[in-house]
Amino acid sequence: MVKRSSFTGWSMNLFDLQGKVAAVTGGNGGIGLGMARGLAQAGATVAILGRNETKSAAAVDALRGLGATSFSVSVDVCDADAVNAAIASVVEQAGALHILVNNAGTNIRKRPEELDVTEWHTVMDTNITSAFLCSKACYPHMKAAGGGKVLNNGSMMSLFGTPWAPAYAASKGGMVQLTKALATAWAPDNIQVNCFLPGWIDTELTQRAREQVTELHDKILSRTPAGRWGDIDDFQGIAVFLASSASDFVTGASITVDGGYSAFG
Ligand code: NDP
Repeated sequence: MVKRSSFTGWSMNLFDLQGKVAAVTGGNGGIGLGMARGLAQAGATVAILGRNETKSAAAVDALRGLGATSFSVSVDVCDADAVNAAIASVVEQAGALHILVNNAGTNIRKRPEELDVTEWHTVMDTNITSAFLCSKACYPHMKAAGGGKVLNNGSMMSLFGTPWAPAYAASKGGMVQLTKALATAWAPDNIQVNCFLPGWIDTELTQRAREQVTELHDKILSRTPAGRWGDIDDFQGIAVFLASSASDFVTGASITVDGGYSAFG
């Protein structure tokens, strides 16, 4: 009989993250900031990993304003050496690392026949190679802590295709499979790895899309049963669930956070 090993261990509250340390890539804005807010309010220390130091400093201030311990580490998640150094810095500053949110991402909105190979690599490196690099860098620290949680950001493009997102769809489909591979590899170490699939969320990324694609705003509204675009704070709950003891027997899963978009026939 395999014994249940609890991530939180000392707490009776399934959603309590007191004493836990989280690193959120791209946590300085958009969905990553929404997730960072949720983790901070559940008691975690939150390290913001991003390139834009002005945005990161503002995010850290906002999290501290919620009463959390927070700091930022500047990193380009496409650079393997920089990722290793950033994760080492988080552990040095916070003393441990229990939760990783692989959220940093980008898109280059072009049809396949127009996308060049450099652009392909930019999207793949930012969206999926980064998740592999960050997860691998965190693994020994999670193992040393007796367990951990990895949260990977997918997309509706993990499920569907569009003509203007060949690399993006490939990277986000890959995120679902990377999640399963990591989950099976690290389950014996009490590390749960899950993916969440956002619908259409109002962020800088989609503001650009709305400028480029006419009528996108209204099309999404009419296609989303909830009747609205998602807000970054819609990601607080999924962040806390997947980062906490509440999800200790959930691993390798992909969970939609989309107002019903993917369920609508
Ligand atoms: P934003 O543009 O607001 O956020 C993107 C984040 O990624 C920024 O914080 C940015 O930080 C960071 N980032 C990008 N490239 C790098 C890099 N090379 N190194 C470090 N950080 C990087 O958009 P969203 O919040 O919308 O996107 C966040 C994630 O959510 C992405 O993975 C996206 O694919 C996914 N998503 C978004 C959806 C939506 O509707 N908005 C739907 C489905 C998925 P910095 O500015 O410091 O570079």
